[in-house]
This record gives sequence, C-alpha cells and structure tokens, in this order.
Amino acid sequence: MSRFSVVPLGVGDAFSTRYYSSCLLLEAKGTKMLIDCPHPIRKIFKESTASLEEPVDVGDIDTVLLTHLHADHCSGVEGFAFFSFFVLKKKVHLVGAPVAVQDLWNKHLAAGMENVRIIDKEAKEGVVVTQRSFDDFFDFDPLSMTEPTKVGPFTIACRETIHHIPTTALKIWVDDKCLGYSADTAFDPGLIEWLEEADMIIHETNLGTHTPYEELMSLPEHIKEKMHLIHYPDFFEQEERELRLLVEGEKIVI
Ligand SMILES: [Zn+2]
Repeated sequence: MSRFSVVPLGVGDAFSTRYYSSCLLLEAKGTKMLIDCPHPIRKIFKESTASLEEPVDVGDIDTVLLTHLHADHCSGVEGFAFFSFFVLKKKVHLVGAPVAVQDLWNKHLAAGMENVRIIDKEAKEGVVVTQRSFDDFFDFDPLSMTEPTKVGPFTIACRETIHHIPTTALKIWVDDKCLGYSADTAFDPGLIEWLEEADMIIHETNLGTHTPYEELMSLPEHIKEKMHLIHYPDFFEQEERELRLLVEGEKIVI
C-alpha cells in the first residue's frame, strides 16, 4: 500500500495576519515535494513541520512545484534558491507548467539574483560584477498540460484555472491514490469535474475573484466529503463552517 501524505504549511491568503500563505508539503516513498513557495519559507518549514516526527527544511525538499507567479505563492523561491546555492551547494529541482512559470526568472527573480556586485578596489571602477542565470540555481523540468508528467513517485496532471495570471490546478497520483488541488481559481464547474476523481480535493476559497464558499457548499455531498479548504480568509472559523478547513502542520494521509 502506498503512503502518500500532505501537510499544509500555509493555509492563508495574500493578506492574512493569521496564517502563512498557501503552500503544501507532499511526501511519498521517501520523496518530498513542495507545492508553492512563499516567503519566509524556512520559517514556514520550521513552524509548520515542528510537530512532525522529523521537522523539514530546504535541504529535505526534492522538488519545488509552482502553480503560478503571484507573490503569495512564489515569493520564497529567491530565498530557497540562495540557501540551496550558497549553503547546501546544490541546485533546486523546479517543476511547473511553462505557461505558468515562464516569467519566473526574467520578470521576478532576475532583479535580485542575476547580478552580484562585490566592491574590489583593485578592479576597474571599484566593483566586480558576477552574472548568474536561471540555470546556475535551478534544474527545471516542465509539466505537460496535455498528459500526466512523472516526477519521482508522483504523476502530475495540470489544468489551467480561471485566475488573473496563468495558473495550474493539479492532480497528483502516487500509485492508486490521487490528490486534487484547485490552486487559485474562480469557481469553475469544469475544474470541479476534473478534480472529482481525486481521493482528496484541496480547494481554495476566498472573496473577490476567488471561489465563494457558498458555491462549494452547493456541490454534491460525495465531493464535499473529500474536500478541504485552503487560501481562506482570516475570519473563517471551523466551528462556523461545514466544509473542513486545512490546518497548518496537520498531516493528512491520502
Ligand atoms: Zn494567485
């Protein structure tokens, strides 16, 4: 029997004062994959994995998967990659659908990671500039939008969601167990249908252009039974909600 687990490391939205931004730790067959990587990722790991048998840090993660490039989902990538590069002396294994992550370096990371200036009085103009590229920090594997992609023990299918920027929902299988994750999205009946086969569905809910809680409440019982909510607003309390709210640090075996 496979043992496929998920630990919500952050469950909040971009404006939360209660929670870390939404991100998930998946583990199967001794392999750990981080889904989205907000800042401050090492503090998030430390606090949200403190109650696990073995706390997790950057060096324990085999793969980082990004669903999209909003800061509350990817602002920790720079710190994660610098820690890997300078402290662990290794590259980050990064995966994602090209449509969702293609601007990661040029429009997000390059500003802080591309050029390193070191003051050197001997050098011309007093500084030495070292230029680094995406490939110095990352080993990247694209996720297909048309067929499942194998990443270690995980088999990953992607589907574009209804969001401000290109974003991918996920279905992730380990043997016969499947986790579905909506990522950020407006309510989308087609997405619910796509996620329906999963054994556990993690769905976002929030205000504005996100998915209203009431829409999820209107879904059939057999879907609601396996649904857990993430990216919820600070004012949501479990006692007042029928659908389950994910809790930071609470490991769930799928
Ligand atoms: Zn977003």
